[in-house]
Parts: sequence; C-alpha cells; structure tokens
Amino acid sequence: MQSIIVHGGAGQIPPETHESHRRGCANAAVLGWQMLNDGGSALDAVEAAVRSLEDDPAFNAGHGAALTIDGEVELDAGIMSGATLKAGAVGALSGFANPISIARRLLEKSDHDLLVADGAASFALAQGFEPVSPASLITERQRTLFETLRTSAGPGDTVGALALDADDNIAAALSTGGYRFKWRGRVGDSPIPGAGLYAQNGVGAVACTGVGEHIMRTGLALRAMFWLEAGKPAPDAATAAIEQFQRLLPGGQAGLIIMDAQGGVGWAHSTPYLSYAYRTSADSNVAGAVSGA
Ligand code: ASP
Repeated sequence: MQSIIVHGGAGQIPPETHESHRRGCANAAVLGWQMLNDGGSALDAVEAAVRSLEDDPAFNAGHGAALTIDGEVELDAGIMSGATLKAGAVGALSGFANPISIARRLLEKSDHDLLVADGAASFALAQGFEPVSPASLITERQRTLFETLRTSAGPGDTVGALALDADDNIAAALSTGGYRFKWRGRVGDSPIPGAGLYAQNGVGAVACTGVGEHIMRTGLALRAMFWLEAGKPAPDAATAAIEQFQRLLPGGQAGLIIMDAQGGVGWAHSTPYLSYAYRTSADSNVAGAVSGA
C-alpha cells in the first residue's frame, strides 16, 4: 500500500484562487505519487510534494510566502520520519527558497530537530544550500496583500504533505510563510512536532494548518494521532480531532490532513476552507479539491 495526501492550507480561500489551489495540490500529489512508485521513500515523497508547493506562487510557502510586519519573508518548515520519530525543522528562516529541504537535511545530518533564524541559515550554508535574495521570494500578490490589508488577515495557503511508502514507512512535512503581518521572529506550529505535524510508523501521520497559536495551544497534531491510536480510521480521526479542537478552543481556526497506518486518508477543518489532493493504492483519483467550497 502506498499513499500520499497534500494540503494547500486552511482559512479563507477566496473563490478566484480555488482553481490554482486545486491545480497546485493535484500537481504536488502526482509528483509525490511518482516518487513513491519509483521506489522513493515516504520522506522523499513528502519533500518533493512540499517543494513543488513552495515553488508555486499560489501558496504561502517558499516563493510567494506571506510577509511579516516589516514586509519581509520568514519561513517555517518541518519534516518528520515515522520510522525514527526524528524531526528536522527550521523557523523564521530568510533567504532560502526551499526550507523543506534544509529541514530534511537537519533530520538526517544533525542531532538537533529545530534551528531558527541566523542559526538555521548558517546550517543551510554549511550544508551547501544556495541562498537567494530575500526579495526574490516576494510576489506581487503578497506585496499587494501586505500593502492593502496592513493587518493580520488570518492564516492561509500553507502547504503540507503525508506519505506512506512500500516499506510501510510514514512521513509528514509542512512549510509556510506563517501568519501575514506576523511579528519578526514569530514561529508558528508548522515546524513543531506534536503541534503542527507528527508521524509514527504503525499509527499514522498528521499535518495541520490554520492559526499556529491555536494549534500549538491544543497540541493538535498529537491529539489527532491519539484518535488513530484509539483505532479510528483516518476520516473519523480527522473529524474527532477537529471537534475536540473546537471544544477546547471555541472559535479556534485549524484544519488538518491525516493518514492512518493502512494509507487511508482524511481531512477536516474549523475554517471555511481547506484545499487538498490525494492518491492512494485504493483510489487513483488525484483531482485537487477545496473542502467547504
Ligand atoms: N499554521 C501556520 C502558522 O500559523 C499558518 C497556516 O497554516 O496558514 O504559521
């Protein structure tokens, strides 16, 4: 059994961007699926899927990320191996286009699980990652949103992926520019194991999206894992986790994608929308969708 599911963020997804969300999510799911079929690992698949979403300016990650209160890009990304429970994550990182690959390198080459800001950048340079000009990651769309809204407008367009490979290894990955208009140095849930993401072989994997502060307060990814551990299949675990989240934090904004150890997938959200796409051995339909639309 092989399986991949990706998300393009939970929040307000304006109707005019639904098509680019569906397309970007479908492309990422297809890429991850190919990787699994070519013998790649679950980690390879989630990294490839998230890289493609980081490169797609429709999403708030890598190129096209949301801007901080200072009009700059600071990226968070995390990846976790269900085989070892090792994570690799970077927070508040500037000047690199694909933070998910730096996170993967940290997972594989370091005892640390999380590095932030200048420390994350120096690790990336030491590992041979090419820096880019910070301005090159800023898109016209994000500049306009920044200039017109000039206020925190909620989460959205963050990207994530979960995969199960032929060896039954499972992995999770997330990447984001975070909350628009966030304070410099703010790190959200996306790089934090147990909050934004989790993966454990034999149980499943979770990738969250929404207001990072709400997700961290409730430890949402780990709570969702407990529903899988209690024996719920992925769709039921997704619903149970978001219902529990809403009981804990009425009005809280979050969404998640989830995969059980059999490769079954699910998603749920308290936000108006969540975009996603998936492909499993049992279901070859890879059309992207916007839940809530
Ligand atoms: N969870 C992300 C953060 O708070 C944002 C998002 O999912 O859109 O940084």
